[in-house]
Amino acid sequence: MRLLTREMDGYLAGGAWIRKIFELGLELKKKYGEDAVCDFSLGNPDLPPPAAVGKRLAEIAAAADRPFAFGYMPNPGYPAVREALAGYVSRQQETHVSPNDLVVTCGAAGGLNIFFRAVLEPGDEVICPSPYFVEYGFYVANSGGVLRPVPSRAGDFGLDVAAIAAAVTDKTRAVLINSPNNPTGQIYPAEDIAALAAALTELSKGRERPIFLVADEPYRFLTFDGHAVPPILPVYPYSLVVSSFSKNLSLAGERVGFVAVSPDMPQREKLVGGLVFANRIMGFVNAPAIGQAVLLGALDAQVDTSIYARRRDAMAGVLSRTGYDFFMPRGAFYFFPVSPIPDEVAFVSKLAEHRVLAVPGRGFGLPGYFRLAFCVDEAIILRAEEGLAKARSAF
Ligand code: PLP
Repeated sequence: MRLLTREMDGYLAGGAWIRKIFELGLELKKKYGEDAVCDFSLGNPDLPPPAAVGKRLAEIAAAADRPFAFGYMPNPGYPAVREALAGYVSRQQETHVSPNDLVVTCGAAGGLNIFFRAVLEPGDEVICPSPYFVEYGFYVANSGGVLRPVPSRAGDFGLDVAAIAAAVTDKTRAVLINSPNNPTGQIYPAEDIAALAAALTELSKGRERPIFLVADEPYRFLTFDGHAVPPILPVYPYSLVVSSFSKNLSLAGERVGFVAVSPDMPQREKLVGGLVFANRIMGFVNAPAIGQAVLLGALDAQVDTSIYARRRDAMAGVLSRTGYDFFMPRGAFYFFPVSPIPDEVAFVSKLAEHRVLAVPGRGFGLPGYFRLAFCVDEAIILRAEEGLAKARSAF
């Protein structure tokens, strides 16, 4: 008997090693206690939401007895929220984004899915620098497309514009970038974005369907050492920004984000119409009412990023002292060190034996590395030093 599609069967079988490590982690926590296991496997923001979120929720609760307090709404979101988000995105992107060019979504994940649903024909390709957030492959496949990872620059995981341009084929529909990057922590500088935009402008010439540039930016707020994330929307007309409030407001479970379209995109009302329709027919219908309403009082707030900065320094110290080779993250909350042995799945299993949980690089399309998420207390980071040292000296 077969209950699932072949595709789903394949997905579940392919993720077996992830589950194995996850289950090992659960087992270790049961055996030694939660605190004895240093769990760096998940990018689930642990900082409490800023005070503005709770304050706004109290206001929403006080108005909860009104008819339609949480009723259906226009598919692209509450008009007042689109208006507020237009101002927010315009400031970040250094251009003028109209509320009509923006759709409120179920997180960045929902935003990416509605975009692919709106623009991909079967077999269309989406290029992304690798390593990459593993869900991209599934999101693209959900709409019949194929993800084409292109290796980032060796060493610093920078944007390899020439390699991306060389990977473009007749089937290429979009280039998807993520900066600050999960899992590498790299931020692409303005010069690289400009070079990519120039290459895509050239490559889109004469095409009936231009190549889109999509920037997935849920970590835009979290940068270190004065690094900044340059805008995308003013530099390439067929660009979109996808983002969310999962990380900057620690609202990951509330599923609220947006897609914003460049004001320079010709016929963008058609694309926005497609995004809105996809939001409806994919069953999202609209982004959660409460999450949207929270934004009206919390767009200027964010979690205390200095805590993430201290953790990054603590983790860098631990990794340096224990002899790991790593790129110092410029943004987001991940390290992506080189595995001391080529088989990083074996190395991550060894780390787990020493009660340190990490994710193998092949989970992001790049074997030979492993990812550590620092959404955990600084004390846990420091406590992991012993396990990181022991696992390393085992080989
Ligand atoms: N994109 C990247 C790079 C992520 O790391 C994540 C979540 O970890 C997402 C998108 C999805 O985030 P959201 O909760 O906004 O759907």
